[in-house]
Amino acid sequence: MVSSDQTLPLPWLAQSLSQALATARSHALLVQGPSGVGQLDLALLLAQSWLCEQPTQSGERRGWACGQCASCKLFGSHTHPDFMLLVPEALREQIGWGADSEPGKDGEAKASKTKPSREIKIDAVRGLLSFAQATSARGRAKVVVVYPAEALNTVAANALLKTLEEPAGLLRFVLASSASESLLPTIRSRCQPVPLGLPDKAPCLQWLQEQGVEGADVLLAAAGGRPQEARDWFEAGLRATAWQQLPQRLARGEAAALSDWPQARAIDALQRLCHDLLRVTHGAEPTYFPKASLPQPKLAAPLHMWEASLRQSARHAEHPLNTGLLMESLFAQGQAALREASPRRANA
Ligand SMILES: [Zn+2]
Repeated sequence: MVSSDQTLPLPWLAQSLSQALATARSHALLVQGPSGVGQLDLALLLAQSWLCEQPTQSGERRGWACGQCASCKLFGSHTHPDFMLLVPEALREQIGWGADSEPGKDGEAKASKTKPSREIKIDAVRGLLSFAQATSARGRAKVVVVYPAEALNTVAANALLKTLEEPAGLLRFVLASSASESLLPTIRSRCQPVPLGLPDKAPCLQWLQEQGVEGADVLLAAAGGRPQEARDWFEAGLRATAWQQLPQRLARGEAAALSDWPQARAIDALQRLCHDLLRVTHGAEPTYFPKASLPQPKLAAPLHMWEASLRQSARHAEHPLNTGLLMESLFAQGQAALREASPRRANA
């Protein structure tokens, strides 16, 4: 949220926040773009600013929340009666908004010990419908943030649509999605788009260093320029040196290089490596790995075969049959592809 001295949790969002506040004409905004750059954070900043009772009146921070008023304090403690956050159960704890802070939610869901859902379900949207009909407790606005919007299952999306079509007086929405093309077209068409692209490198590096991330420049590139993803990778144990060594360890067939990683992330890493190796064969600059860390393959065809296997495995990564064997096999295929793609080693 906007703090009392008006600093932002993610400094690169300043311009997007000012711009969205200045240009918002619809009662529903859709923040869209890549993940890992602060979509939810921007949505929450917008909500806080609309609810704030003393927003900044002029200057670059026009419309920003003050961070000090009663409304901002309620927002900061996740107890604002005019705010509702719709996120999948599986995400709620992770982002620091425990189940208690959801208005209109009783203890039922907590009592059942089922696995938390990755979808936003109809029950949550029903809670939203009664929230939408109630009058605003503090008389300024009522705001609903939906994140990630693609997590709405079809029934929930259809139920939400009705409220999006006929919003009651002070109700505003911010949806955020990194897969906006997969949303129902009827939902998309009712929202004003707010594009949020990759931020500039400098503020990201500074933020990562403040978060204690070592090797920030390597990890930011590894994450494709997405700072939150770089931070998550670091927190999950990825180190810049391990990343830089991955291409050579692939060349040597050391599948242990990825053995500590969750399968989906390991496959993702190999896909990035394959992508960069392909770029090198075309004489282009790599995206995710430092150029000096990469072998210099000459032929693209063997790498394309590996790319296809990786893509297929990525599709099933959520349902692993045998993680260890699959990773060894993908690694061996990668090593073989790299050898074939580097003809000067053919006579070795
Ligand atoms: Zn305020």
